[in-house]
Amino acid sequence: MAGTTERTALEERQELQSERLRDTVAHAYENVRFYRDRLDETGVSPEDIQSVDDLERLPFTTKEDFRDEYPDGLFAVDADELLRIHASSGTTGKPKIVGYTERDLELWDEVMARSMEAAGIEPGDTVQNAYGYGLFTGGLGFHGGAEELGTTVIPTGSGNTQRQVELARDLESDVLACTPSYALYFAETAHEMGVDPRELPVSTVLYGAEPCTEPMRAELEDRLGAAGIENYGLSELIGPGVAVECREAQDGMHIWEEHFYPEVIDPQTDETLPEGEEGELVLTSLSKEALPVLRYRTGDLTSLTYGECACGRTTARMDSVTGRADDLLIVRGVNLYPSQIEDVVLEFDAVAPHYRIDLSREDELDRLALTVELAEGFDGDRERLREAVLERLENALSVRPDSLDVVEYGTLERTEVGKVKRVYDHR
Ligand SMILES: [Zn+2]
Repeated sequence: MAGTTERTALEERQELQSERLRDTVAHAYENVRFYRDRLDETGVSPEDIQSVDDLERLPFTTKEDFRDEYPDGLFAVDADELLRIHASSGTTGKPKIVGYTERDLELWDEVMARSMEAAGIEPGDTVQNAYGYGLFTGGLGFHGGAEELGTTVIPTGSGNTQRQVELARDLESDVLACTPSYALYFAETAHEMGVDPRELPVSTVLYGAEPCTEPMRAELEDRLGAAGIENYGLSELIGPGVAVECREAQDGMHIWEEHFYPEVIDPQTDETLPEGEEGELVLTSLSKEALPVLRYRTGDLTSLTYGECACGRTTARMDSVTGRADDLLIVRGVNLYPSQIEDVVLEFDAVAPHYRIDLSREDELDRLALTVELAEGFDGDRERLREAVLERLENALSVRPDSLDVVEYGTLERTEVGKVKRVYDHR
């Protein structure tokens, strides 16, 4: 695609990034009281930020800042310049409101079209978009990119899964765009309808919006007989369209970093971490008008890789998000992420890719209860399987769940709409 720096040398891109960063900081300082106050308090003036190397001097922006400035305190343009509003729902409190000018929407279409192109999707393909339409950025984000690229979009949104299976078959959808948990639900529903999901024409599942481990990806690829390509984004920066895996190498997600500048920090000390080390992803928007964002703490845990990819692109790449910094479960003093449990549980072929974690406190002690589901048609020794999973968890994670329930296939709740919930912390 023209006008991008996907394949240019690092130095050349950095010059463009630095130029855009100077403009973004000036724009935010002049037009957003929040940033003006924050920079003044920190003693940093916009002139101090000359290049991306100066970025560390800027304070972070957090999701609490979005909440405190609800609804539009972070907007840098007047309301009449906005063409669209979206909102990202939190589990608690007020939603984060995000706004777009005409140019922001064009940028969004562009980065989404680039993401789909990198994922191996071509003009003329049929894209079934099962991300939710509405305030959530998933639906309209994928929709705009798919049209920009020149594909045929079927805007199913989420839900109505039986009809979705029929449409995928009858309209020959090449691509299913959805969350990984929905892809599994879709496959299960097809199977229940007597349709072999592997026989459906879907050859690419473009998934995102939830953490997905490699065993989970393997499951959905196997069940749908399709390639699973991961993408990443978040409403606070633009929506989906921040990063995507390339079809050729699938070796980390290419970040469209002339628009979204990435850093990884230690979430405890706030220090910037070197290439390859895992920490919290921090993003700075470089081209946004309505909602410039400086050093936004995404809460997502990942690491960055630099250097040319086998596909020829030279952008920074981010690893799959292994979890969220605030998903960290401290169980009897041991740090544990739900994704680590998922990794272990899905090693077992006899276990279906559905599980539930319940945390409670009894007599001042943390209690970890895990529920896993048997694979369809399992007829082995259930107690033996239970013991094997417990032992493997203890060896791999140094934590033995206080209870492990092994339930029949189909028992645990499936997610037809929205993001899947697997962790219940009752403490
Ligand atoms: Zn690549």
